[in-house]
Amino acid sequence: DHLVNQIAAGEVVERPASALKEMLENSLDAGADKITVDLAQGGIKLIRVTDNGGGIVPDDLPLALDRHATSKIASLADLESVATLGFRGEGLASIASVSRLTLISRPHEEAHAHQIIAIDGALHPVEPAAHAPGTSVEVVDLYFNTPARRKFLKSENTEYAHCAATFERIALAHPQVEFLLRHNGKVVWRLPSQSLAERVGALLGKDFVDSALPLETTAGGLQLAGFVASPTYSKASRDAQYFYVNGRFVRDKTAQHALRQAYRDVLHHDRHPAYALFLNIDPAGVDVNVHPTKIEVRFRESQAIHQFLFHSVNKALAATTA
Ligand code: ADP
Ligand code: MG
Repeated sequence: DHLVNQIAAGEVVERPASALKEMLENSLDAGADKITVDLAQGGIKLIRVTDNGGGIVPDDLPLALDRHATSKIASLADLESVATLGFRGEGLASIASVSRLTLISRPHEEAHAHQIIAIDGALHPVEPAAHAPGTSVEVVDLYFNTPARRKFLKSENTEYAHCAATFERIALAHPQVEFLLRHNGKVVWRLPSQSLAERVGALLGKDFVDSALPLETTAGGLQLAGFVASPTYSKASRDAQYFYVNGRFVRDKTAQHALRQAYRDVLHHDRHPAYALFLNIDPAGVDVNVHPTKIEVRFRESQAIHQFLFHSVNKALAATTA
């Protein structure tokens, strides 16, 4: 079973950034509004995520590290959203099978915290610990027990860059949540709870958001909100393209194409536009690729999505040049 976990882990935990993504999503699922991330050596040495969310009662600590144990499928309706969210109940178990993992938690109604340690996938007994209300997950020495996988990791700098990108994508979509990111003890991001405009300004630059065009359109069950670069903004690059479907960051060819086309149509140039856009759509209309590490989606009606995105952005741009 340990081997099965390790193999599964290779799928789910491609690199430190994939573990970080799982951990951050768990903190958000737990209702946290304050999340602190500590990384060391690009996340290879340490990934620690501390939150002030609902926490886990002591009896459930071993369950949280059990494969396919998820507290998040409560109803049949949930099962449907599982199809769109991808794998469930594999995150922590997979990470634990390829690291030294410590899970410390204190539900708000408990007087004390408890912790459980998993080393090489083996669980130690639950013990009392010290922690504020909320949860910390600490992942040390990723892939220490699977040297073949460890060899696939890139340099610390590259792994750190992936972690930072993951952090930024999630932070952008949750402006009301306070975030702190440290790498090797140095503060990289300190983001207070703020408005979306302020969060976009913090992450993409004040000059971007100050000149950006705010967007808010609805049509045929589709809803688009966010900011696109003004025609005069010249710093755009592929790195400044944030596109979310139902709150989740995705890279989508249809969206990229529609947006690029909208800029080309109005401005007659072919740069990569900068944007932070949130598309909301009936979950039945998207296939989130079932693989947990993928950031791609498949729209059932991609033609309609393309048109909607193109027209929304085209109209906003055209208004500024009219
Ligand atoms: P999933 O998120 O798909 O349920 P995970 O393996 O990521 O599976 O987590 C297993 C369980 O551990 C979760 O269902 C949740 O009950 C608990 N858990 C994990 N992280 C946290 C956290 N930060 N705060 C509260 N509960 C958590
Ligand atoms: Mg999870």
